[in-house]
Amino acid sequence: MTKRFTRRDLFALMSAAGLGPAFASLTIAQENEGLPAVGTVPERKLVPPMDIPRYPASLVGGKVIQPERPLPVLHETDVLVVGGGPAGFAAAVSAARAGVRTALVERYGYFGGQWTGGLVLLVISTHAKANGGIVKVMRGIGDELLERLNKIPGGVINQAPGKWNPTVDPEATKYVMDEMITKAGVKVFLHCWAADVVLENGAVRGVVFESKSGRQAILARVVVDATGDGDIFAAAGAEHEMRLHAIGLVHRLGNVDRADIEKMKAAGLKLPASRPLGAATPIPSVTWINLRGPSTNCLDIAELTRLELEHRRSIWQRVQELRSTPGGEQLYLLQTAPQLGVRTSRLLAGTYKLTFQESREGKKFPDTIGVGGAQNANQHGGWPIPYGTLLPKKLDNLLAAGRCICVDEKLIEDMRLIAPCLTTGHAAGAAAAVAVQDKCRPRDVDIAKVQKLLRDQGAYLG
Ligand SMILES: Cc1cc2nc3c(=O)[nH]c(=O)nc-3n(C[C@H](O)[C@H](O)[C@H](O)COP(=O)(O)OP(=O)(O)OC[C@H]3O[C@@H](n4cnc5c(N)ncnc54)[C@H](O)[C@@H]3O)c2cc1C
Repeated sequence: MTKRFTRRDLFALMSAAGLGPAFASLTIAQENEGLPAVGTVPERKLVPPMDIPRYPASLVGGKVIQPERPLPVLHETDVLVVGGGPAGFAAAVSAARAGVRTALVERYGYFGGQWTGGLVLLVISTHAKANGGIVKVMRGIGDELLERLNKIPGGVINQAPGKWNPTVDPEATKYVMDEMITKAGVKVFLHCWAADVVLENGAVRGVVFESKSGRQAILARVVVDATGDGDIFAAAGAEHEMRLHAIGLVHRLGNVDRADIEKMKAAGLKLPASRPLGAATPIPSVTWINLRGPSTNCLDIAELTRLELEHRRSIWQRVQELRSTPGGEQLYLLQTAPQLGVRTSRLLAGTYKLTFQESREGKKFPDTIGVGGAQNANQHGGWPIPYGTLLPKKLDNLLAAGRCICVDEKLIEDMRLIAPCLTTGHAAGAAAAVAVQDKCRPRDVDIAKVQKLLRDQGAYLG
């Protein structure tokens, strides 16, 4: 009979080769990577089928009718954050650290949203002009994440005094986000797509989501909509507008350190003057390349499908062109982003709409919950962000955070950047926690308490 090569055999072999202790941390996954020896059957378990109640739709008179049905409540919590991008990550960590029960629902298998899954690695507008110098405005949970990345070799570049707008490694960022979220005690639900809201007397009481486990609900006292697209406030019928903007697909190029740019240019290839092969990342041989695209409807799945296919085809062709040019032979397409690059979509109609004009005047607000920065720190001062930009006009028990909050058409170009999204996420989480602790609606929170909590958690309010 063929003997299986076991973990014990592996360690015996390695200690014979003098490698034992050094490789002792090899994981089971690494050990099992090889195919099983001929004649062996990999271990499989027979378990009963999942007992999920099913309520299939019926085709009745040409219409698809879904029956009314009860939904299992998977979990009950104080604060439920939907969407684990920069805003949702900061919201969940803030609320959990404030001591309230917090859950986080994310449709994909990782956190970071456009930042990690969209491969948008450059954190813009972390700083702004102040008192004749430059001040860091993105502090608190977002900056803590960057500082943690700074301790990991290859985690981040430009996170240092006198520098701004750092660039992260996506995998290191996912890893640190996982650490911070789990250490804060957030209850995490990955691979769960929020599809609807639960309302009680017109106020949000939870979210309905789809997953491999079927359609279920999570109930909460306050929900933070950090989906980027405002999926939750839209489902609840909150007033909002749509702003469509340049849907792209980011990608990463490998072996850029082996490319001869001058030779490529001499061969007649047109390359951009600045960053000819893309922007630097913490991995010296890898760059990331941003892409714009048409400003079409990101809520239309036909359009999303078309753009995925078209962007990927054009990226592939461009990289083949680079590779077939003398000097570029070693380049390769490391990765196209797992997430299509949606820049803006739904924007909440909040109790306050912050304008570009106000931001450039640095208008101050009594309910400031964070400060936005400048795309280039030298350009202008920081701009206070009022709490009203997160609060729906009428809908209760919900706060928005990130790129879907209430700002005017011009300011969204600043607000949608990663640094302000981390900032407004942090604020939404803190406000949600205070609302739970004081048993009040988010619109009735004592803003001084929220501001104190934010300062205690390291945030900058000007
Ligand atoms: C192509 C492109 C280039 C960009 N370049 C830069 C740049 O260089 N620098 C910069 O600072 N910013 C840049 N941005 C902007 C920035 O990346 C995003 O605006 C920012 O990540 C928004 O953060 P967010 O948390 O609000 O939303 P997102 O990052 O979009 O995160 C939303 C999260 O919610 C999840 N989600 C969505 N719907 C659901 C649902 N129904 N149920 C469950 N989960 C859901 C998503 O999977 C995602 O994880 C760029 C954006 C794009 C698209």
